[in-house]
Amino acid sequence: MKEKINFGSLCVKKEKFEGEIRPHQMPLFATSSFEFDTINQGIDIFTGKNKGLVYSRYANPNTTAVADKIARMEMFGLKGKAYAYLTSSGMSAISTLLLGILNKGDKILTQGNLYGGTTELFLKTLGRLGIETIFTDLKNINKVDDILKKDKKIKALYFETPANPTLACVDIEALSTIAKKRKVKTVIDNTFPTPYLQQPFKYNVDFIIHSTTKYLNGHGNSIAGVIVGRDKKIMESAVWQTLKLAGTNASPFEAWILGNGIKTLEVRMDRHCKNAQTIAEFLMGHKKVKQVNYNGLPTHPDHALAKKQMKGFGGMLSFELKGGLKAGIKFMNKIKFCSLAPTLGDVDTLILHPASSSHINVDKKLREANGITDGLIRLSVGIENSMDIIQDLNQAMK
Ligand SMILES: *Cc1c(COP(=O)(O)O)cnc(C)c1O
Repeated sequence: MKEKINFGSLCVKKEKFEGEIRPHQMPLFATSSFEFDTINQGIDIFTGKNKGLVYSRYANPNTTAVADKIARMEMFGLKGKAYAYLTSSGMSAISTLLLGILNKGDKILTQGNLYGGTTELFLKTLGRLGIETIFTDLKNINKVDDILKKDKKIKALYFETPANPTLACVDIEALSTIAKKRKVKTVIDNTFPTPYLQQPFKYNVDFIIHSTTKYLNGHGNSIAGVIVGRDKKIMESAVWQTLKLAGTNASPFEAWILGNGIKTLEVRMDRHCKNAQTIAEFLMGHKKVKQVNYNGLPTHPDHALAKKQMKGFGGMLSFELKGGLKAGIKFMNKIKFCSLAPTLGDVDTLILHPASSSHINVDKKLREANGITDGLIRLSVGIENSMDIIQDLNQAMK
């Protein structure tokens, strides 16, 4: 959609709001339902003849306004229009979309290094319902094409780029092109880069999901997700119906908080990128560090690909300490300034040692195959003064 204003201004401006009152900022519509003037007005809305507000599980001014803004952000500078729904979490965005577009017997093709919850959802929940998942290396485009050609049951190609924890990237354009050729729907998790740094619709991806819990909100005070798609019919029928009937809608309050967070997305992301680059370069030169994974470093295997499809390299990085598990635990215990918290994308710097926390129960061989070595530290670089982050990392490595 051709916007009349720049991206950062779109983020800042109040969501579109239609009503008789003219609040300067979006008010919170904490109401479960909406009244009708006449019974006929209600009938027309319930039968789908007219649009209107009925019940907040169906739609609410807060969730609709924020979803519409995210759709505009994902379409920024592109032709056409996108449609979006806010969900109760990133996981519910993924489950609602896939339950909406897939049937029993359909298969999903994806990568091995997805967000952990997504892998579990595919294997444990969708698997039980007769939707099978095939994992492959999505970097091998010829192999992906071959798998899609041979297995007509594959109805969705699902990917995430950059992915945890090594920031490995896949080629959005190449994957989208072969999926279109094979009539397979593409779904991307765009949580890490946000629409500011990466616009998958540029490459004709069918659906985008976000855990807005992370960068889009950015302040660590809400859990929500969003599904964005350009096919009006699928979005307004299959996807919305699943959302409404599974009850996976976001609450007005979460939407309202998210709306506030989005206003500063551009300035936050610029600072996340700048700080992460500075810290990655500092770590590269440190004698206690074996390896640094950041897309902005020319030494990263996917530096060129990230540069092609992203506007900046984001705020996520990981690095490997010399000395393995013992060094990792010792380092974490000495951290003072950064927060030890298992989330990402917040304004403050968050630090995680997967081997002793999120992946403690995962088989060592399995986690190492995905790049999670004993000494690996994941950093969600915040927007503080980078000197304070560096000082903390430096003293913890002493
Ligand atoms: C956090 C996260 C999710 C899940 O989102 P929730 O809001 O926690 O449900 C999905 N994908 C990625 C990449 C994430 O970081």
